[in-house]
Amino acid sequence: MFHTQKKMSSPQVVIIGGGVAGLSCAKHLHDSGVSSLILECSEAVGGRIRTDVVDGFSLDRGFQILLTAYPEARELLDFESLQLKNYEPGALIRYRGELHQFVDPIRRPRKLFSTLKSPVASFGDKLRLARLKINSCRGAIEDLYTRPETSTLERLKSEGFSSGFIDRFFKPFLGGVFLEPELATSTRKFDLVFRMFSSGDAAIPSGGMEAIPRQLASGLPNEAIRVNAEVKRIDPETNTIEMKDGEQITASRVVMACPERVVSQLLDLETEPLEPHGVTCFYFGSEKSPVEQPMLILNGEGTGPINNMCVPSLVDPKCAPAGKSLISISCLGAINDDCEDSLRNEVVCQARDWFGKTVDQWQHLKTYSIPYALPSANPAHFNRKELDSTRRGNILLCGDYLETASLEGALRSGRMTAERLVTSLRPA
Ligand SMILES: Cc1cc2nc3c(=O)[nH]c(=O)nc-3n(C[C@H](O)[C@H](O)[C@H](O)COP(=O)(O)OP(=O)(O)OC[C@H]3O[C@@H](n4cnc5c(N)ncnc54)[C@H](O)[C@@H]3O)c2cc1C
Repeated sequence: MFHTQKKMSSPQVVIIGGGVAGLSCAKHLHDSGVSSLILECSEAVGGRIRTDVVDGFSLDRGFQILLTAYPEARELLDFESLQLKNYEPGALIRYRGELHQFVDPIRRPRKLFSTLKSPVASFGDKLRLARLKINSCRGAIEDLYTRPETSTLERLKSEGFSSGFIDRFFKPFLGGVFLEPELATSTRKFDLVFRMFSSGDAAIPSGGMEAIPRQLASGLPNEAIRVNAEVKRIDPETNTIEMKDGEQITASRVVMACPERVVSQLLDLETEPLEPHGVTCFYFGSEKSPVEQPMLILNGEGTGPINNMCVPSLVDPKCAPAGKSLISISCLGAINDDCEDSLRNEVVCQARDWFGKTVDQWQHLKTYSIPYALPSANPAHFNRKELDSTRRGNILLCGDYLETASLEGALRSGRMTAERLVTSLRPA
C-alpha cells in the first residue's frame, strides 16, 4: 500500500496534503507523465474522507455521500470497483409526529400517488419542485460556475416556495449538505448539488467512503506518497519545504493541497480563511433498523438537535456485522468533548420520540465532532480564487475551498491545478 517512506528521486512537483484534491492533482499529473510526491501529515491519505472500523461497523468520519452524477468523479473514479450502493431517491420527512415518504415521482413513478398525497408540501410546492428539477438539468455544467450568484434561500424564495416547505424540506435537506441551516450558501453550489441529486444517485462505496481516496492512491506509484510527513514551513523564494523532522525538500513546483488555514500559516499570509462549517455525527449499532427504507431521514419539525439521519447498513449491509444495523445521526455544528454526553442524551431522547423504546437498545459506537467539515461557500466564496494570485514563485493552491466546497470541488480543483502545472512544465 501507500504507507511507505521510500524516497522518490527528485519529483517535479511536491504536493502538500493527501486529501482528494491532492490525490486528484497527483493522478492527473501522473497520467500526463509528470512525477509528483504527496506529503501527508496524518497516517493515511483521504483528509476529510476517512473510515474507521469500530466493533465490526464501518464508520465514515461524518456522514458523507458520493453523488454519482458528479462529472469529475465519473471521469476519475472507477465506480464499478468501488461497488457503489445507492440510497433510494427522496427522503423520509419527520413532520407532525410522523415520518412521511417524499419521493421524486419522476425517478420512482410508482410513488407518484403517495408523493401527491404527502402533507409535507402543498400541491403548488410540489409543482415548483418538479419545475426546479427539470430546469436544474438544463444547460452546460460549466455555466454553473460563472452564473450570477445569490444565496440559496433567496433563490428558493424567488422560485415561489412557501416558507413552510422551505423549513420542512429544504432546510434539513440542504442544511445537511451545506452544513449550515440558514441556506446562505451560494446558488452556484446549490445549482450543482440540486442538479446532481436530480440526475444521479446518492451512493456510498461498499465498506465506506475512504475507498475513494484509497482508489485514487492505488493509481499512483508507491513512492509517490509519504504519510506521517508534516510540512512545517515553506520558503517561497527557493521552493524549499521544511519538514517537521527537519528534512528539507526542494521542488521546481509546489502544490498546497492542504486546508486554507494551513496555507495561511505555512506561507505567512494575512488572508482570513473562510468560515468553517462543522457537524457532529453520532453512530449507533442496533439489532433492528428503526426504518425499512434505505433513505435519508430529515427532521422537518425544526425542533431538537437532529438534522438528518440514515441507516447505512440498509444501503450497504457490509458496513455492519451480520444481522446488525448501523444508524448514523447528524447534528449541525461541532461540539466540545465536555458537551458530548448531554448532546448524545438529547439525540437519543429525540430518537426515542420518533421510534419508541427500541432506541433504548441502541449501542453507542462513536461520536465524531468535526469543526472543519466544509469551508463556507457563501456567494463571496467564489472570489476566493483571487487568493491564488497571492501565490509566490512556483507555489500553486488547490482544495475544495477554491471550488464548490465538496468532493467534486476538490477533485476539480486538483485537475485544474494539474493542467496548469503540465502547461507550465512543458518546454517553451
Ligand atoms: C462530515 C463531512 C461530510 C461531508 N459530506 C460531503 C458530501 O456528502 N458530499 C461531498 O461532495 N462532500 C462532502 N464533504 C466535503 C468533502 O469531504 C471535502 O470537500 C473534500 O474531502 C476536501 O478535500 P481536500 O483535499 O480539498 O481537503 P482535505 O480533505 O482537508 O485534505 C487536506 C489534507 O492536507 C493534509 N495536511 C494539512 N496540513 C498539512 C501539513 N502541514 N503537512 C502535510 N499535510 C497536511 C491533511 O491531513 C489532509 O489530508 C464532507 C466533509 C465532511 C468532513
